Amino acid sequence: MNPDTMWRAVLGELEVNLSKANFSTWFKNTFIYSIDDDRAVIGVPSNFYIEWLKKKYNLEILSALKKLMPQIQTVDYRVASKRSNETQIPEIKLDAIQPSPVSQAKETKMSADYHTFGNFVVGNSNKLAHAASLSVAEKPGLTYNPLFIWGGSGLGKTHLIQAVKNEITKRYPDYKILYVPCEKFTNDFILAVREGRGKAEQFKNKYRLIDALLVDDIQFIAGKEGTQEEFFHTFNALHQAKKQIILTSDRPPKEIPTLGNRLKSRFEWGLTCDIQAPDFEMRRAILQNKAQEKEFEITEDVADFIARNVQQNIRELEGALNKLIAHVQFYNLKPSVDVAMAALGNSISSKNKSLSFDKIVDTVAGFYNVQVEDLLGARRNKQIVIPRQIAMYLLRQELQYSYPQIAIKIGKKDHTTIMYGCEKIEKQIRTGHNIHKEIILIKEKLYM
Ligand code: ADP
Ligand code: MG
Repeated sequence: MNPDTMWRAVLGELEVNLSKANFSTWFKNTFIYSIDDDRAVIGVPSNFYIEWLKKKYNLEILSALKKLMPQIQTVDYRVASKRSNETQIPEIKLDAIQPSPVSQAKETKMSADYHTFGNFVVGNSNKLAHAASLSVAEKPGLTYNPLFIWGGSGLGKTHLIQAVKNEITKRYPDYKILYVPCEKFTNDFILAVREGRGKAEQFKNKYRLIDALLVDDIQFIAGKEGTQEEFFHTFNALHQAKKQIILTSDRPPKEIPTLGNRLKSRFEWGLTCDIQAPDFEMRRAILQNKAQEKEFEITEDVADFIARNVQQNIRELEGALNKLIAHVQFYNLKPSVDVAMAALGNSISSKNKSLSFDKIVDTVAGFYNVQVEDLLGARRNKQIVIPRQIAMYLLRQELQYSYPQIAIKIGKKDHTTIMYGCEKIEKQIRTGHNIHKEIILIKEKLYM
C-alpha cells in the first residue's frame, strides 16, 4: 500500500467523526510525509496546523494510523507541501499485504476526483435538483436563473454544481465560468477593498465579465454585510445580462440568518430545489457505483449491509467504502459481511448504542400515528397490528432481541406470536411490499 492510499484510509476513518467543515479545514492538504519504524510524520501546510492538529486531533490521528499500521507509536507533524516531497516518499512496507500489479491502476482512478453528471447517481432524493442542473447546463442563462440548490452536508451539492461547470465547459468551450466557494468570494472582496482601486477593478472584472457564476455554500455570506452588498450588485449585473447564476446552501434562502431581504428574494427568483438524504435503494446504488469506479468488487450482501448501517449522508457512505477497501487490501481478505462489520465496527456500533427499545417503539408509533400504549397493548385491529409487527421486526433486526425477549417486553404470553409477526414482515420485505419502503423511512428516523 503506498502512503497516499494509506493516508486516504486514515482520512476515511477520521472523516466519519468530524464535522465536514472541521475535516476539510484541518485535513485538506495533509499527507504522509514519511514513516520510519514506529514514527509517522504528517506533512501540513503551515505551523498553525501543527499546533492545532497536535492539540485537537493527535489521538484520533494516531489511533487511525495504528489501525492500519500497528507498529506506529508516535505522530509528528512538519510543514511541507506535497509536491516538493513527492519524489522522496518511500513505499511503505507492509508484511501483510502483497500489492498486486493492478493496484497501481486502481490508485490513479481513486485519486482522480472529478465531479460530473456521469458519476452522479440519481434517486428519489435528488432527482429534481439533478434535472434542474442538467437543464441549466444545457442552456445556461435561459432556464432557471438563479438555480438555488440546498441540502444537508455530504448530500451532493458540490458534486452537482461542479458537474454543471464541467458540462457547460464541455458544451460551450468559449464560456467563461467561475466556480467559487463562498469564502473565496468573501476573501477576494475583502482584499479588493483593502488594496484599493486596482484591486477593486480586478475584482469586478473577475466576477462580472463572465458567462456563469457558481457560488458554493452561499450561506456563509450570512452576517457579512459588506460582502452581501457587493454580491447584490454582482448578482444584478450578471442577471441583467442573462448570465447564469447557481448557488448552493445548506438551507433554503428564507432560513439563512441575517440575509438581507433583497438578496433573499433574488435567490428565489429562479428555481429553488433541495437534495434530501438518500433512501436505502439509492445508498446501495451509490455504493455499487463507487465500488465500480474503484474497481472493487462488492457483493449484494456487503452493499446491503453498508447501505443499511451507514445512513447519514453520501460522504459517510464513501468513507465507509474506503475503509472497507483499505481493510480488505491490508489484510488481504475477501470482502464479506463479516469483514465489513470488522472494518466498520466503530462507526456502526457507536450508532447502535443510541438505539433502544423505547426509541424503536416511539418511532414506529409516531410514524403510524398510533399510541405507544396501543402498540404495546392487546388490540387487534389492522391499524395497530402491522405497526406492532414492524416494531417486533425492528427490535429483532436492529437490537438483536430474541423472540422471548420481545414477548416479555411487549407483554405477550407466547413468543410464537412474535415469531409469526417477524416472519410476516420479512416475507413482505422479500416480495417488495410497500411496507419495505416504510421500514426504510422508519430506520432513517431511528438513526437520525
Ligand atoms: P455537499 O457539497 O452537499 O456537502 P458533496 O457534493 O461534497 O456534498 O458530496 C459528498 C461526497 O459524496 C462527494 O464525494 C460526492 O462525489 C459524493 N456524492 C454525493 N452525491 C452523489 C451522487 N448522487 N452520486 C454519486 N456520488 C455522490
Ligand atoms: Mg459542498
